[in-house]
Amino acid sequence: SPVVGVLALQGDVREHLIALASADAVARPVRRPEELAEVDGLVIPGGESTTISKLAALFGLLEPLRARVRDGMPVYGTCAGMIMLADKILDPRSGQETVGGIDMIVRRNAFGRQNESFEASVGVNGVDGDPVEGVFIRAPWVESVGAEVDVLAEHEGHIVAVREGNALATSFHPELTGDHRIHALFVDMVRGNGRAGSL
Ligand code: GLN
Repeated sequence: SPVVGVLALQGDVREHLIALASADAVARPVRRPEELAEVDGLVIPGGESTTISKLAALFGLLEPLRARVRDGMPVYGTCAGMIMLADKILDPRSGQETVGGIDMIVRRNAFGRQNESFEASVGVNGVDGDPVEGVFIRAPWVESVGAEVDVLAEHEGHIVAVREGNALATSFHPELTGDHRIHALFVDMVRGNGRAGSL
C-alpha cells in the first residue's frame, strides 16, 4: 500500500489519518523534513492556514514541501490545505505563505460569517455515485484558475474542488464524514504516481 502522510502541524490531522487508512493507505503524521521524505503522497488538513504556514516555516518544512510538490508528489489539501496549495491568495494575512502547486487564486473565509459553517451536497467529477456531503467550515473558494486546472466541483457558482496534475484540493472536509471516496480517489492518484515513477 502507498504511504500517505498528513501534515501534522495544526488542524484535523487525526480524521485524515483515519480516512486514509480506510482508503487502504498506510497513513502517517508528518512533522519533520525527514518524515516528509519518506511518504509517497501528502494530505494538508483543514485548520487555520496562517498558523499552518507559520509552523511550516518554523519547522523547516516550507521549502521541502515546495520541492516535493514541484517534483510531482501527489498532494491533497482540504480547506486550509486548499489555501496552502494556492499559487496565490487574494487576502493573505501578514507573514502568510503558501506551498503553491495549483495555478489558482483562493479567497479565504469566502463563504462569509453568517454562513461560517454549513453542509451541502456537492457533485464531484471523478467521484461516481451520489454527490458528496460537503462540510464547509469558514471555507475558502477558488476565485479563478489557470488553463491547466480541472474544476471538479462548484457550489452556488463558486469553485470548491480542483485538480492540477498530482495536486487535488477541496474547500470542504470529506474527512469529517464517513464517506471516504475522495480519499480513495487521492490514494489512487498516489498509486498511479508510484507506477509511473517506477517505469
Ligand atoms: N478559514 C480557515 C483559514 O483561513 C480555514 C478553515 C478550515 O480549514 N476549516 O485557514
